[in-house]
Amino acid sequence: MRIAGFVKTTLQDWEGKNACMVLLAGCNFKCPYCNRPDLVSGPEEDIDPATILKYIKENKDFLEAVVISGGEPTMHSDLYKLITDLRKLKVKIKLDTNGYSPDLLDDLIGAKLVDKVCINIMAPLDPVLYSKAAGIDVDVERIRRSLKILDGSGITYEIRTVIVPGIINHESFVKLLKDLDGSKSMIIQQFDPRITLDPKMKITPYPKPVLVKMAETAKGYIERVRIRGF
Ligand code: SF4
Repeated sequence: MRIAGFVKTTLQDWEGKNACMVLLAGCNFKCPYCNRPDLVSGPEEDIDPATILKYIKENKDFLEAVVISGGEPTMHSDLYKLITDLRKLKVKIKLDTNGYSPDLLDDLIGAKLVDKVCINIMAPLDPVLYSKAAGIDVDVERIRRSLKILDGSGITYEIRTVIVPGIINHESFVKLLKDLDGSKSMIIQQFDPRITLDPKMKITPYPKPVLVKMAETAKGYIERVRIRGF
């Protein structure tokens, strides 16, 4: 596991919490629209976890939580140990994931090591559509299983979907909503073409009204829907 980044304070990555954020390098997906190609390929930087643990310990008066993001944190088997060590400091933990490691997700939830999960769902759970969005051949049953684990876990989780022209449109978005029917919270994220893993993705994002319409449709399936990125 390589820790490629550490954000000392963030108020945006866990609503209502004063958090810090740990960014793990590497990802098992290659989403063409990914805004963190530096993390997907794995930068040289490798921050010692001991430095992070020390910082959190020394700043416990204002830090309540740690967001673990990437890249894809769950592709690292030693994530479990990192979270266990963080947990000993009595901070809340949020995990950002693409949902492709249901077993590890299940282990972490079963051991009560995470308090919140944000799962990126990129497309309807259809092998062709999902593989196009993720840039690799995806076994959608793994994603379906992660969603089922989250649904049955009782922990807070939210679904985040980046709306990328050419990957998702209103019709496929409705298909995606049918796969997620009954979920509690969704973030509809505007696509940012400034930095992308695939340079050919420098395309114009949908205008805001398109996302607003998607959000209105989503409210028929999901309790709480928010739009981000404007
Ligand atoms: S957007 Fe895709 S490629 Fe980028 S970190 Fe997330 S899952 Fe990995």
